[in-house]
Amino acid sequence: MAGELLLTSSLEECVFIRPRELAAMQAAGMASVRDLLFMLPRRYEDRRMFDRYDSLSSGVPVCLRGRVVDVGWKGWGGRGGKGRGRYVEAVLADEQSLGQARFSCLWFSMPGVARMLCAGQEMIVYGRMKPYGKKLSMVHPDFEIIREGDEQSIHLNRIVPVYGGRMGIAVRRLREIVWETLSRLSPAPEPEVYEFVPDTPCKTALRDLHFPETAEARDRARRRFALEECLAQQLNVAYRRRRADEMPGMRTAGSSHLVKDLADSLPFELTEAQKRCVREIYRDMKAPRSMNRLLQGDVGSGKTLVALCAMLLAVEHGYSAVMMAPTQILAEQHYLKFRQMLDKLDVPVSLVTADRKEESHVSFGKQGGIVVGTHALLYGKNVPERVGLVVIDEQHKFGVNQREKLIDREERPDVLVMTATPIPRTLTLTFYGELDVSILDGVPGGRGAVVTAIRTEKDKGKVLAFVRNQLEEGRQIYVVSPLIDGEDSRKGKAVTKEWDEWKALLPHVDVGLLHGRMSSEEKEAVMKDFRSNRISVLVSTTVVEVGVDVPNATVMVVEDADRFGLSQLHQLRGRVGRGAQESWCFLMAEPNERLTTLCGTNDGFEIARKDLELRGPGEFLGTVQHGAGFLSGLAADGRLLAETQQCMRELRQNPNYHQEYEQVLAQAQQRFAARLPRFSRRCSASGE
Ligand code: ADP
Ligand code: MG
Repeated sequence: MAGELLLTSSLEECVFIRPRELAAMQAAGMASVRDLLFMLPRRYEDRRMFDRYDSLSSGVPVCLRGRVVDVGWKGWGGRGGKGRGRYVEAVLADEQSLGQARFSCLWFSMPGVARMLCAGQEMIVYGRMKPYGKKLSMVHPDFEIIREGDEQSIHLNRIVPVYGGRMGIAVRRLREIVWETLSRLSPAPEPEVYEFVPDTPCKTALRDLHFPETAEARDRARRRFALEECLAQQLNVAYRRRRADEMPGMRTAGSSHLVKDLADSLPFELTEAQKRCVREIYRDMKAPRSMNRLLQGDVGSGKTLVALCAMLLAVEHGYSAVMMAPTQILAEQHYLKFRQMLDKLDVPVSLVTADRKEESHVSFGKQGGIVVGTHALLYGKNVPERVGLVVIDEQHKFGVNQREKLIDREERPDVLVMTATPIPRTLTLTFYGELDVSILDGVPGGRGAVVTAIRTEKDKGKVLAFVRNQLEEGRQIYVVSPLIDGEDSRKGKAVTKEWDEWKALLPHVDVGLLHGRMSSEEKEAVMKDFRSNRISVLVSTTVVEVGVDVPNATVMVVEDADRFGLSQLHQLRGRVGRGAQESWCFLMAEPNERLTTLCGTNDGFEIARKDLELRGPGEFLGTVQHGAGFLSGLAADGRLLAETQQCMRELRQNPNYHQEYEQVLAQAQQRFAARLPRFSRRCSASGE
């Protein structure tokens, strides 16, 4: 029985997995034993030693063991004056304090929980204790009910893995499946399994990853796999780079007369940095290989114009150019601006967003033109035939594979990705390693300074007086609130309420409302009114975070500012200071170190560094980019990167490098499939 399974065995060979479970796992993209075992525990619980309720502080996650004393529905209707509706409450007697201490677990809108629990049961709960009413309670804890015989099982008295995406399989059951699989796994090395990090064999490390004897063993295993994943990333980057270099790009740049015509028609000169970036792009586009370039420039540095020049280079050559933006508001803004700027040059521009599907079939015929759109570009026939250039605006808002989907065409177009979020060097290599970089430094001249200040609730009167003053001068104001109506009214201020408040505070002023749940026509209409200054104050959610450009707006008030990340606040602040007037950004919050950093500098790079330091790379890059891999806690670990590079060097020195490299790469791509940016399907299919 023991030892019959290989990492490469299909899950169907695991006879202990029930058909329904197998189907669920396959639906989640798992096919082999390896896929299953490379599913990372989201976290671990040390069930040899539980926390004690009576020695807890609020806010830190804890793991408690207790016996259910009472369970039932609470909080009918508006009881307690908060109108929060009904919830399930379980009162538990804490085991560690010998049943003396009692604590509550609460579940809102989860009627199923009530059916699962009954008095007398023993439970393990994991969550954060928060003050609720007069006492500390756990809201929506993870929990498991202890069953008879558990004392001797894999579920108790050891460090226990807890998995995240459970595919509809109970966590206990999933743990049993992994355990069973591991115990039937043949210990012999497998020729198809390349040992990236030879000092601990993969299979030993896998055991430590799921069922570690000690925390140290677990950390060692995690680090080992992180190193492998990092290496896999690097190999993939090298591979993508090589593939991209090999791609017979189109020669998509002509005499650049359209760019000259555009430049002549503008009321201002291109900055030196803009000219340099356009030249770098021009050189790439003219060359026979395809362009893969990152244009990095702080908020407001004028990236759009550089992109427009690049698109004109493609159009001039009879190709179309496509630009994808993360929000409908931004796509529309680009569209309107391009239309206006290209009016005289006779270059057609069209817009593709989710609800413009009617015009979905975009075609410019032989001549070529410009298409601006949102994610909708990725579906249907929303992209014209001959695309010479793809531009991704605010690239950090997209996943790499989304980008790849747009590029994955018969003839690989040139690619320009743009971002205002500077990525620290250690991460650049991992995430943008296959890209050439153009830096757009500085911002165009003639701009007023932006003053950033922290204001607390009691300063609100002064802020308001300031706003009134600016309105009298004819300026416009943004008010940003972290939440939209109903999303979570228990927490911060809902934006609709905010809107009502501002309307009441400024009775003779047109105050507009903008949030993501409005229909696109409504959003469109509001933005149009704000751009044309028919609306003077715009109360909004973070839908205005990226790209929005209204130079007459001079004040930004960010409510509950401490709920935003630093880079996000920097982006938000970038909405003002786009005209000649001095501008102000008021962060409404109690002062703290984070926010003070923002007041002290306008340098996006400095802010990103601080943000990364404070939040870690996972959150910093967003899960879209990153996935919850081994690396999530370690990517910024310089030592890991150095070790990876050492491994890469060793690999290169290997006389069989080429052969090995291919093998290692194939493995890396297979093992970390879900987390590695893929090279487009078409390319890899023909290339291997
Ligand atoms: P971002 O880099 O944040 O995308 P934008 O491309 O939106 O910045 O540009 C910000 C503003 O600067 C726009 O209003 C744009 O018209 C203006 N702008 C761009 N280039 C120049 C320039 N060379 N001189 C003056 N203003 C410029
Ligand atoms: Mg922009």
